[in-house]
Amino acid sequence: MPVELTEHDPRNENLLDFRSDTVTTPSDAMREAAANAEVGDDVKREDPTVNELEARAADLMGKEAGLYVPSGTMGNQIAARVHTERGEEAIVDTEGHVYKWEVGGLAQLSELQVRPLDYGPEAVPTPEQVRETVTESALHVAGTGLLCLENSHNSRGGVAVAPEAVDAAAEVAHDHDVPVHLDGARVCNAAVAQDVDPARLVDSVDTVMFCLSKGLGAPVGSMLVGPEEFVEEARRTRKLLGGGMRQAGMIAAPGLLALENVDRLAEDHANAGRLAEGLDALTGLSVPEPDTNIVLVDTAGVDVPADEFVAACAERDVGASTFGAYTVRFCTHLDVDEADVETAIDRVGPVVSEMA
Ligand SMILES: *Cc1c(COP(=O)(O)O)cnc(C)c1O
Repeated sequence: MPVELTEHDPRNENLLDFRSDTVTTPSDAMREAAANAEVGDDVKREDPTVNELEARAADLMGKEAGLYVPSGTMGNQIAARVHTERGEEAIVDTEGHVYKWEVGGLAQLSELQVRPLDYGPEAVPTPEQVRETVTESALHVAGTGLLCLENSHNSRGGVAVAPEAVDAAAEVAHDHDVPVHLDGARVCNAAVAQDVDPARLVDSVDTVMFCLSKGLGAPVGSMLVGPEEFVEEARRTRKLLGGGMRQAGMIAAPGLLALENVDRLAEDHANAGRLAEGLDALTGLSVPEPDTNIVLVDTAGVDVPADEFVAACAERDVGASTFGAYTVRFCTHLDVDEADVETAIDRVGPVVSEMA
């Protein structure tokens, strides 16, 4: 039976796909690197390409060791499980990915009780908030086992959190012997946007997960980095969750090339800025200036629900995604350039005028 084409089929050459930065397809160089990768059994730690990727990822983030994992979700979930004891509390943002978009994994895989806290538009808890929320375990009390941060912050519109704000929150947690894990799926975006070294941005957190398969353009994989001892235990937990891979150098080789795409994220940010400006100029749409590569469009002013707006955009070969009842997300990435942004603005214009 032939596979049906979806409206976002990547073979539709006319499609400008802003749904996510996960839609990038590997470059020719990445495909070549995969084909020619030196490989071995990575579960036995004999894959030289994976070993190199883990070392380079750790180095980029200024941490002792790294672990290659199949997805960002697995990286976050492994981190939570290794950092905590069952029955503890994890402090998470009400809008955090680990809380909203990981299938309740903290409860399912680590038996944690989540303690959702509104990190606010700054996308990071204040030191006071952390101080008021951290609890010591006692006869009747779970006790805090983990503080989860996110940078850049996806659901809050790609907000890039400043290093000082990360430090301040982490310091309070550490004062209470609570470890801090950063969901840094797009931490390189956050670093580039603020012109700081990624290692500086994550200096005060214990562990970091970051995705190779988003803005950095690799086909598969994320990295979990942290102290040597933590990563050793994380490697065991990865095996437990079924993430022990064999000749994974085939997919790690493109990941090595992805690490060279950090600085060019600035282009995605410039394109996102231009897209936001162009869409904001359309009557009725409200689009705040983005920090990074995520543009959130408020469609309440034209009284069009997000899913209708997204469907109308899709009809004109512009991919966007529903992010709330009246919130639509556009993401810039490697596979859309400045000219594509201009074309997208031109295509969305009539969508707005016809629906409003
Ligand atoms: C995409 C994403 C993840 C999860 O990564 P997957 O590879 O899709 O599992 C985690 N956190 C944030 C903020 C993300 O955007």
